[in-house]
Amino acid sequence: MENKAITKIGVLTSGGDAPGMNSAVRAVVRSAFYYKLEVFGIYRGYEGLIQDDIKKLNSRDIAYILERGGTFLKSARSDEFRTPEGRKIAYENLKKHGIDALVVIGGDGSLTGAHLFYKEFGVPAIGLPGTIDNDLAGTDFTIGFDTACNTAIQAIDKIRDTATSHDRLFFVEVMGRDAGFIAINAGIGSAAAATLIPEKKMPIETLIERLKVREKAKKQANVVIVAEGGKSGGALEISQKVKKFLPNYDIKVTILGHLQRGGSPTSFDRLLSSKLGVAAVEGLLHGKYDVMAGLINNKVVYTPIKRAIVDDKDVDEEDFRVAKILST
Ligand code: ATP
Repeated sequence: MENKAITKIGVLTSGGDAPGMNSAVRAVVRSAFYYKLEVFGIYRGYEGLIQDDIKKLNSRDIAYILERGGTFLKSARSDEFRTPEGRKIAYENLKKHGIDALVVIGGDGSLTGAHLFYKEFGVPAIGLPGTIDNDLAGTDFTIGFDTACNTAIQAIDKIRDTATSHDRLFFVEVMGRDAGFIAINAGIGSAAAATLIPEKKMPIETLIERLKVREKAKKQANVVIVAEGGKSGGALEISQKVKKFLPNYDIKVTILGHLQRGGSPTSFDRLLSSKLGVAAVEGLLHGKYDVMAGLINNKVVYTPIKRAIVDDKDVDEEDFRVAKILST
């Protein structure tokens, strides 16, 4: 399939939704039109590709979507696409519509799917990092991460108001799967007393000690941020352990959950997704297949999908150090 000139591209959003996916799709569609290509929207990710939920897009379809959260193409998880039989059906559907190439917007799982599809059927595919978790290599930031951090920080500001009024200690759990990027960002940005992330295990004794010191110093230790994927458990488990040693604290737990996925994308996410949408189409036209387009030091970089999904991207040591200094 790969040597044919590209005239029709398909675009899909897959995995967990992320703010900025809509603006990425818009950028893909607009730049495709700029280069005189046809674009097909594949609804509900790989599931829609298998079910043939595919529709040719026009300019009206992408009007007023840049500023909207979620993804108008909808997203889904597809177990069938994980099987060779499922991917074969997906390929037949692509052929039926004459689609020459794919833009896949999603997290590491979605990009793994695009890589396999390219390997098995030679379908030129380019990935865009669409996940709030920021856990992909080959880009400084993923689409949706900045908005999710802003949402988390705004919510924590509100929690702090009530925490301060009642001298309570809140354990706030933020998303990020097994990556602590949202947590460390929210921890610094909301002056947390401590931030627990999966990448750096903090013994419970250290946390208790820190809270005791703050109690003695009459500092208001009112918010501890906990990343959801921590090995010692989430906010609930940690708070229960701490409670035994700090009986004087009135401890509460808030799990921010899915609200971190929603909302209008920030200016940063709009810019990032717009640049990467254009980069996806231009990359395909320049024969860059099986890669993910990302932004490193504000420059578009194409990284082989295989590397983008497996290279460890750790929370910046410097961010961790800053968070620690500012919470002691
Ligand atoms: P997020 O990081 O937000 O969870 P994600 O893209 O990692 O997003 P997944 O649920 O891991 O989300 O993957 C989305 C879809 O990609 C899966 O439902 C499946 O259809 C496809 N996929 C994931 N892993 C594979 C794989 N190993 N082989 C084929 N397809 C896969």
